[in-house]
Amino acid sequence: VAKAQYCIGCGVKLQTTDPQGLGFVPENVLEKSIAAGNNELYCQRCFRLRHYNEMLPVSLTNDDFLQILTKVGQQQALVVNVVDIFDFNGSVLASLPRFVGDNPIILVGNKADLLPKSLKRTKIKEWLRQRAYEIGLHPVAVVLISAAKNLGIDDLLTQINNYRQKRDVCVVGVTNVGKSTLINRLVARSGGNDDLLTVSRFPGTTLDIIKLPLDDGGNLWDTPGIVQTKQLTNRLSPKELKYVQPASELKPKTYQLNSNQTLFLGGLARFDYLSSESKSVVVYLSNRLLIHRTKTANADSFFERHLGGLLQPPFEQNTAEFAHPKRHIFKAEQKSDIVLAGLGWITVSANTTVAIWTAAGVGVSIRKAMI
Ligand code: GDP
Repeated sequence: VAKAQYCIGCGVKLQTTDPQGLGFVPENVLEKSIAAGNNELYCQRCFRLRHYNEMLPVSLTNDDFLQILTKVGQQQALVVNVVDIFDFNGSVLASLPRFVGDNPIILVGNKADLLPKSLKRTKIKEWLRQRAYEIGLHPVAVVLISAAKNLGIDDLLTQINNYRQKRDVCVVGVTNVGKSTLINRLVARSGGNDDLLTVSRFPGTTLDIIKLPLDDGGNLWDTPGIVQTKQLTNRLSPKELKYVQPASELKPKTYQLNSNQTLFLGGLARFDYLSSESKSVVVYLSNRLLIHRTKTANADSFFERHLGGLLQPPFEQNTAEFAHPKRHIFKAEQKSDIVLAGLGWITVSANTTVAIWTAAGVGVSIRKAMI
């Protein structure tokens, strides 16, 4: 870019390097427009919004995101926090309670379609509420939805109307929780007409954010998300992601494990069972990710030989990130889930010791069992 250009829709500086970032235009579009002497360009986000009434996901830097949360706290607003129930630890905004002040929060658990149908929805909601309380978040309501499958959207709208009381509504969440999919559902509900969505400056910030007018005069603001670097999914190619991101209801897999047995989750992670008593563990992962069982004593050499081959994803080109995994030890006192951020979890019974190995920097944690 010879001279900085700005989007004539939202005013952000155009850039051609980060497709997920604000102000992105594909390089060939920019070149063509410069060659034609045309200085009037829309960023890809405004372009899609104008022509297709479609929201594109966009992500922000940490500072910009904190700036937004601070501003949300200063508005009279109902805050709608969308999380991915399949990756609660990786998608919950631990700093939200500090920022939203006295504003009411509705906690929305998205991707409910992935949970086994046998699970009681009331139990999951209660579990979500407990996890929220643990980080100091006290939602006025917890709603389970599937934005992709269009489930629970009416319930969400009812709750929004219950708690709004003429306030604006701010939708917040990290990237990949399905926020854009949800906003597109809400737009479709409101008739999807062309003038409905506008891009305007979020009060008190330099950020341009999508605004959706509500029936009685207020607005719904869709704030950009922030990328969670701990998520394993951020390190995978789109092709690898197909194996890892569940697309349909999870089929839990149960393994009866003896001491010093190991499960490989593709080549992405390794689970060693260290307790002496033989017990079962239940694995909640994408049905497409293959699991291999070996003796722990053979696990190192098995991994060296088969990473990128039998143990995939990662595929051969991308093994470097995963070749030197870091080990984490967990002692579960109660029935617990060992969670790999962005991938899934393994449920172990009380009084079990296990080790998890995965690429350094990937979030691994233990929590009270969801199921
Ligand atoms: P955003 O970054 O929060 O705006 O997220 P997107 O709307 O782009 O969605 C992220 C990913 O989650 C995409 O692959 C979506 O297809 C998927 N997704 C969104 N909603 C759902 C849902 O309800 N169920 C499932 N299974 N996947 C979903």
